[in-house]
Formats: sequence, C-alpha cells, structure tokens
Amino acid sequence: MGAVIAYELSLEAKFDITVIDQNSPAQGSTGAALGVLMAVISHKVKGRNWRLRAQSLARYQTLIPELEAKTGQSIPHNTQGILSLCFDAEALPRWRSLQTIRQDQGHALEIWSPQQAIHRCPHLHNPGLVAGIYSPQDLQINPTALTQALVAAAAANGVKFCFHQPVTQLETSAAEGRCTRVHTTAQTVAADAVVVSAGLGSAALSQALNRPLALGPVLGQGLKLHCDRPLGHPDFQPVINGNDIHLVPLGQGDYWLGATVEFPPNTAEAEVLAMQPEADRLQALIDGAIAYCPALAVATIGDRWFGLRPRPQGQAAPVIQPMAGYNNVWLATGHYRNGVLLAPATALAVRDWLVGNTG
Ligand SMILES: Cc1cc2nc3c(=O)[nH]c(=O)nc-3n(C[C@H](O)[C@H](O)[C@H](O)COP(=O)(O)OP(=O)(O)OC[C@H]3O[C@@H](n4cnc5c(N)ncnc54)[C@H](O)[C@@H]3O)c2cc1C
Repeated sequence: MGAVIAYELSLEAKFDITVIDQNSPAQGSTGAALGVLMAVISHKVKGRNWRLRAQSLARYQTLIPELEAKTGQSIPHNTQGILSLCFDAEALPRWRSLQTIRQDQGHALEIWSPQQAIHRCPHLHNPGLVAGIYSPQDLQINPTALTQALVAAAAANGVKFCFHQPVTQLETSAAEGRCTRVHTTAQTVAADAVVVSAGLGSAALSQALNRPLALGPVLGQGLKLHCDRPLGHPDFQPVINGNDIHLVPLGQGDYWLGATVEFPPNTAEAEVLAMQPEADRLQALIDGAIAYCPALAVATIGDRWFGLRPRPQGQAAPVIQPMAGYNNVWLATGHYRNGVLLAPATALAVRDWLVGNTG
C-alpha cells in the first residue's frame, strides 16, 4: 500500500515523499498474496466497496503498462479472467441478478452451463457443478513484482525509500492537531502530512498517536504446485475459484493454490501476532482443489507460505480515512482480503485528500 500511494503521489509535482518501512518491499501480507483481483465477479454492487473495486480495476488497465514502460520490469499478470465455480443451484438467481447489474454498469459476466465450463476448462471435473461464472475483465497480478515496480517507478520520480527502518515514534503537536516528525531507528523526518499504511503495524502506530485502531490478523496459507503440463487448454488459463479456493496459473505448468482463512484464537495479543499455520487447513485446501480439478492429485508440491491479513475489528475493511484528532494524518490500511485489488483506488483517495489539504 505504501508503494502504490508513493507512486501516485510522485506523479504530483508538489510533493516531497519519504516512505519508511521496517523491512524490504513486499515482505508483509503483500508478499504472501495471490494477487487475485475480484472486482466484477464480487457481489459488491454499490456504495464504497464497489466504487473502490471499479476504480482499481480501471486504474490497473493503465498502471501495469505505465509501470512496465517506466521501469523496464515485467509484472506477471493474467488477463484471461476469473472463472468461479457454482455448486449450489440456490445461488444461481443471485448470479443472474449480478449479471444484469454488471451489464447495466458496462461489465461482462458470463454464466456457463457445466458442459460449457468443462468444454473450456477440461481439467475441471465435479459432478456437483451447477454453473461456471466467468468474468473476462477481472485480473490476477503478481503482488511482489507489482510492489517492486511501484518502488522503482516512484524512486525514479524522486521518492526517497528508507527500508529496514522501523518507525519508533510519532512526534505530535497537540495544540495544532498535527503529527510533525516521524522518528525511525536511523533518522527523524519532519512531515507536513503522514500516511499510516503499515498493514498490521498500523495498530501500534495509531496507538502511538493516541487514536488506537483495532486490527487483527487473519492467517492465510498458500502453496505452489507444478504439473507436468498446463492443465486444460494451454491457451485458456483463467484463475479458477471453487469454494473460495483459488487455482492461479503461472505458466509452464506452475500454479499457486490458496488461500486458507484462519482466525486467531481468542487469546492475548502477543500470542495472536505469533499465530502459526495449521497443517490440516492446508491439507483441506489441497483436497478442496483436487475435488474440482482431479489432475492436481499428482502435482508436485513446491513452496508453502503464509501471511497475516490486516483485518479491521469493529468496522468494515478497508480503513481509508483521516485520523480523528489530527488534520495531517491519514489512515490507508486494514485491507484484509483485498489489499492488492484495492491498492490503486486507495492511493487515488489518499492523493485526492493530500492534493486538497496541503498547501
Ligand atoms: C495468503 C494471502 C493471500 C492473499 N490473497 C489476496 C488476493 O488474491 N488479492 C488481494 O487483493 N489481496 C490478497 N491478500 C490480502 C493482501 O495481501 C493484503 O490486504 C495487502 O497485502 C495489505 O497490504 P498492506 O501494504 O496494507 O500490508 P503489508 O503488505 O503487510 O505491508 C505493511 C508494511 O508495513 C511495514 N511496517 C509495519 N509496521 C511498521 C513500522 N512500525 N515501521 C515501519 N514499517 C512498518 C511492514 O514492514 C510492511 O512492509 C492475501 C493475503 C494473504 C495473507
């Protein structure tokens, strides 16, 4: 989130931008993400949540070529859409109504019979399949490559990145309602405006500003699979989503599979942040994918990983708003399961605030 905000702000000549991160790029939740961008195929149809999704989808169309041209780095992404498998006949009317709404909004959503779905994706096999919902406009993007390209492009535009520097203190002027300086382990940065976009770390930073934001981790596990050859038709490799399990094609027979959704135990904060993945949850994920794509049973399992998604407690995700009590601090955090999708729209919202609120 920090990288995309810095990049959008770097396109405005008036800002002198410093990004501070205690780690290297894409080491937090972003580094664990699958980068599936569910906009048109989501059931959000109005209000803030749909607006952010639609804005992000539109900005991704220009952002990817813009970054690739500027940095010379390729950002692996899949434009062959997302196919969501429907196993519940009672859910079909809701999909049909979504299809009508999307049509009115200018987006395509196709509803395929089981035969059509299996004809286009012959690696799918499930006797319980009721329909395939195909969204040709939704994307998938490699979140780490995206972040690295954003950092490179923003740096080329003059943004200063300070990696491996935890923010240790936020100095404030209570009389003015401002955060005036950001202290790290290595330096002090004077600031006219501060954007808190530290994922789960935003909880401690907001606490330091006496405006605690409740954020909890929701653990997600993923893994990489290799098949001897691409599943289904090599020239049609959409992301498949069955029962909330994503099968993400990467090319050359490689796939990502994910992600589990593991809520923390109801225990002390330190234990919650030290959450560890549960092996049986990963096995259930693999079994669930094999149920709709039997060829995965003989795939070779490669890397496994997990990350902690930042989930707001007591309010809806994401948290994109001015921090109460301050007139120069903005929160852009708590994106939970959709931070990669919502990153561009978040950055545009922050840019609009800063353009309107700084001299
Ligand atoms: C397994 C998994 C799969 C996912 N799949 C998807 C998906 O398909 N699509 C999607 O849209 N989203 C997905 N997500 C969610 C997505 O990863 C998050 O919503 C998003 O990455 C959050 O981005 P962020 O920048 O806010 O947080 P992070 O990526 O966690 O970054 C926070 C940064 O803040 C830094 N930081 C924290 N505290 C401090 C401090 N005190 N000082 C300095 N720096 C600090 C950290 O070092 C880190 O770099 C997935 C998440 C997981 C775990």
